Amino acid sequence: MTSLPFRSGFVCVAGRPNVGKSTLVNRLVGRDVSITSPKPQTTRNRILGVLRGDGWQAVLVDTPGIHQPSDPLNTRLVRYALTALQDADLILMLVEPLHQTGAGQRNGRHAALRNDDLRVLEHVREAKAPAFVVVNKVDAASEAAVLETLRRYGAVKRFDEIVPVSALTGRNVPRLAKLISARLGPGPPYFEPDQVTDQPLPHLLGELVRQEAFRRLNEELPYSTAVRLERIEAKENLHVVHARLFVERDSQKGIVIGKGGRMLRTIGQGARRRMEGVLGTRVYLELTVAVLQNWSRDPRRLQELGYPEE
Ligand code: GDP
Ligand code: MG
Repeated sequence: MTSLPFRSGFVCVAGRPNVGKSTLVNRLVGRDVSITSPKPQTTRNRILGVLRGDGWQAVLVDTPGIHQPSDPLNTRLVRYALTALQDADLILMLVEPLHQTGAGQRNGRHAALRNDDLRVLEHVREAKAPAFVVVNKVDAASEAAVLETLRRYGAVKRFDEIVPVSALTGRNVPRLAKLISARLGPGPPYFEPDQVTDQPLPHLLGELVRQEAFRRLNEELPYSTAVRLERIEAKENLHVVHARLFVERDSQKGIVIGKGGRMLRTIGQGARRRMEGVLGTRVYLELTVAVLQNWSRDPRRLQELGYPEE
């Protein structure tokens, strides 16, 4: 029996903040694909999910938005994003449909692309991997705007594919998955189907809590939340997970907890469900909130919370 070699690769999802990167990663990973922990030698950061098919695996690496960093935390986040780009086997650059303004902005070679997208594009150009531009949020734009966006990005030579999708509704996401799989070269299965190694698990689980918090509090608390996994107890068919969410100010703590604790419960429920997907067992999540003043400006705190210098 002949068998084709296994194919795999790291797929970096890049784009300015709020363009839908995390939503797309979640959508691609979907219900049938579980996030398990990477093998110990896989040291890359911010691995959010594995897209699997018959004989292939794509490791999706989400990036914090690439933007002009203004403080120590954001400097590190942007550095992570750039490293992920350099290491990627395939890059998905996410953009939104452009507003049709007629006149358009003047940006030299690529008139009428957004300046913040252009900044990302410059980084994508410096990376070597093949790249797709993914036009997300097509559900929220007119057909004309989508077509115009496809046309403008079509003129940018860096990209091998241009794929319109809606991460929110899932429209055209299966086609994107197919295009991703078609680009993978021979490589190892980085993730094993059932194995969960405990080393990076706290990081992954903490990341799930942080994502849920981001998702619910989107505009209100950008990057001022961090999560520390205090304890994970494995019982028969149940994991008890103790996590603490840190914010920088009392006022933020109030927002996270919400009226009558409602917001914190919502965040906890979402995170718990996703942890159950990762761990394959029921999860009891004990989630608390604490104020850690100015953690994002304190190098020692950053280190503690899992944002090491390099
Ligand atoms: P990120 O900062 O790039 O990771 O963006 P997120 O994934 O956090 O999404 C930012 C916001 O855009 C959230 O409110 C999402 O619900 C929303 N969003 C993401 N994808 C879509 C989409 O396809 N359509 C619409 N209408 N909204 C979306
Ligand atoms: Mg995100």
